[in-house]
Amino acid sequence: MLGKTAHALARSLQIFRQAIPQMSSLKIPVTPENYAVWYHYVMGYDLALKHEIEQRLRQQQAFDSRVNDTLYTTYIQRDPSQRFENVHNETQKLIASLVEQIRASSAGTRAFSEVLGELDAELAQPSSPEQLSQMIRRLTAGVTEVLNNNQQMESSLTQLSQDASGLRQELAQVREQALLDPLTSLYNRRALEHELNARLLAYTQTREDCCLILLDVDHFKRFNDTYGHAVGDQVLRFVAMTLRRVSGQEPFIARYGGEEFVLVLPQWDYGKALVLAEQIRLQIAQQNLATQQGQQPIGHITVSLGVACMQASDDAEGLLIRADKAMYQAKQQGRDQVVGERDRILDDVGA
Ligand code: GH3
Ligand code: MG
Ligand code: MG
Repeated sequence: MLGKTAHALARSLQIFRQAIPQMSSLKIPVTPENYAVWYHYVMGYDLALKHEIEQRLRQQQAFDSRVNDTLYTTYIQRDPSQRFENVHNETQKLIASLVEQIRASSAGTRAFSEVLGELDAELAQPSSPEQLSQMIRRLTAGVTEVLNNNQQMESSLTQLSQDASGLRQELAQVREQALLDPLTSLYNRRALEHELNARLLAYTQTREDCCLILLDVDHFKRFNDTYGHAVGDQVLRFVAMTLRRVSGQEPFIARYGGEEFVLVLPQWDYGKALVLAEQIRLQIAQQNLATQQGQQPIGHITVSLGVACMQASDDAEGLLIRADKAMYQAKQQGRDQVVGERDRILDDVGA
């Protein structure tokens, strides 16, 4: 019986056997990037990619490096963490076995070619029929071609195998970067969604408290208009730094949107989360800010915070909405304050 891995390998080989000949007939170099494109094309799950390639094939357009690069950036790179992982895992699995197989088959073919060469020499004697000799020559030529192709494929696979180990390192970075906000180096919204889903799953099993703080910088648009976007960016970094400093190692912190941040607090109860939110508010409001070079004083900024905790019926969106509503009430009540969902007095209507 085939195990799971053997099945996966068989599937990889099947895809490989379809993708490589097609790539080679279209003169597309077997690089990890191009292979990723054709791997996904053969898999057939990405209908947009399938459609685009089939259209190009119908119109007999050349797959030159510009087209190959565009296909890669459009269809593979746009969702780097998932797709890289997919193709990387699969490629890794098959490379090891394929290099072996091709090596074995090209050695076999080489021996075959020698035998045919000897046969050819013998048949070239005057006593041998000329016709047969011609036939053998053609056969030898054919086998030599096969051998060359194998050698080419072997070297391109060896290259692929080297590239793949580089890819493995890059992959770790890509995966990490895909989850980080470049401005603040906090997690991004996508990472937050993963985290919340994981926490919600844990909550259904353990029912342990898990709270969320949503923070929004007050009048940030006005701030940007006064000091410029670059100074605005510095302030966002300052808020990120303060969140890290005040809340310690424990919480998961993400930049949720432009000037909005979310802290996820597993095993923190409502009261404890409110206390942390208040500490954050104070620390930010108390800080007298100046531009990075210290040349221009900026004064103070304030933030409004909402606190909500997981409930049995929650999904990630519902929980975020409750925290957002609490935060919105803090805005309504004059900003620079914390509102917990249990303190909310506003109707949902209009909030
Ligand atoms: P409120 O107190 O009601 O939250 O007012 P606000 O001005 O903060 O809210 P609003 O949503 O109207 O404006 C948010 C502003 O945040 C708009 C935009 O200029 C700014 N912003 C969003 N992302 C960035 C960013 O990455 N860098 C900078 N500098 N500003 C940003
Ligand atoms: Mg906002
Ligand atoms: Mg704001």
